[in-house]
Amino acid sequence: MDAKKTAVIVGAGPAGLTAAFELLKRSGAWRVIVLEETQEIGGIARTAVHGKCRIDIGGHRFFSKSQEVNRLWAELMPLQGKPAWDDIRLARNKDFAEGGPDPEKEDRVMLLRDRVSRIFYLRHFFDYPIALKLQTFLNMGLWRTWCAGWSYLRAAIFKREEKSLEDFYINRFGKVLYAMFFEDYTEKLWGVHPSKISPEWGAQRVKGLSLIKAVLNVLKPKGAKRETSLIESFLYPKKGPGQLWEIMADEIRARGGEIRMGTQAVRLETKDGAIASVTAASGERIPCDALFSSMPIRDLVAAFDKVPAPVAEVASALPYRDFITVGLLVDRLAIRNQTPIRTLNNIVPDTWIYI
Ligand SMILES: Cc1cc2nc3c(=O)[nH]c(=O)nc-3n(C[C@H](O)[C@H](O)[C@H](O)COP(=O)(O)OP(=O)(O)OC[C@H]3O[C@@H](n4cnc5c(N)ncnc54)[C@H](O)[C@@H]3O)c2cc1C
Repeated sequence: MDAKKTAVIVGAGPAGLTAAFELLKRSGAWRVIVLEETQEIGGIARTAVHGKCRIDIGGHRFFSKSQEVNRLWAELMPLQGKPAWDDIRLARNKDFAEGGPDPEKEDRVMLLRDRVSRIFYLRHFFDYPIALKLQTFLNMGLWRTWCAGWSYLRAAIFKREEKSLEDFYINRFGKVLYAMFFEDYTEKLWGVHPSKISPEWGAQRVKGLSLIKAVLNVLKPKGAKRETSLIESFLYPKKGPGQLWEIMADEIRARGGEIRMGTQAVRLETKDGAIASVTAASGERIPCDALFSSMPIRDLVAAFDKVPAPVAEVASALPYRDFITVGLLVDRLAIRNQTPIRTLNNIVPDTWIYI
């Protein structure tokens, strides 16, 4: 008889896979079964494959202040030890890992990427976060620059009471820059106007970012401590974010873990206040001693056999924001570049362009 206890993990996205991997690594006492309702590994951090192309369903950067998390990533995908093709073309100097893999020869390698984000607005490219430099003012034109300057001064002198994210942004950037760069973008991304979002959300999201800090940040020497929102480099698996999760899934299987694809958890049965079994949509009942869930809270609560009525009511009303990714396959990019400094050897070095 198998003396091992069974842990069922719902979801083969980053959370579920990491739970499975760590459990198998730390203890031999568990039989680990991951249930994934789709046929894909990586959840919303996966990389879709179309022919020879790999397309992220959401551009992901890997950056963590936790050394434990960084160690875990490095364990699965070592940092590049040599420059990649574009590092050479863009003449980028980076701190490569001594003895690390050569990305031009190996696939299992984490690349160190420079963050270049720009906003395409008024048919011009603006730096993101906004940089106070000549190009920004040329892009905005004299009148807008004038208005933005006055509105910033006004906001700096007459501070608003911060009741919403809108107040938070206006206090830091002024009304004109807020309307240009934050208002529509926030509403588009989160489906809620900034005037209806709490200011704490902004403090947590943009970590004290302000026009003054953005300026000071530009002046900081290389290597100095920076605001999280302004971090200029990040890690990125050579074949997209999904590669890391595919590697982790292979490691889980190699350690004896099971990943059942196309298996949706629909019912969670409890006994004496603890999880007793998970039932899949196929009707199969999997008895278990522990459950790790990464499914949406609404579905998790709905799947439990016994839930207090107020909890069920709150959970069923939780809103979720969906998104659609459109992948365009083009032979080559013909972006007319307006900031020549940013184009070296005809490569547009952007990692993101916000529209
Ligand atoms: C556009 C975009 C950009 C992002 N950029 C970044 C970034 O730059 N850096 C960063 O760190 N994060 C980024 N994120 C966030 C990151 O993708 C998520 O934090 C991460 O994927 C969450 O992992 P998860 O495992 O909790 O959930 P998910 O990735 O959602 O995975 C959950 C998995 O569970 C499965 N599942 C759900 N219900 C069931 C069920 N009942 N039965 C079986 N399986 C089920 C789903 O199919 C899915 O595979 C970004 C997200 C998006 C959308």
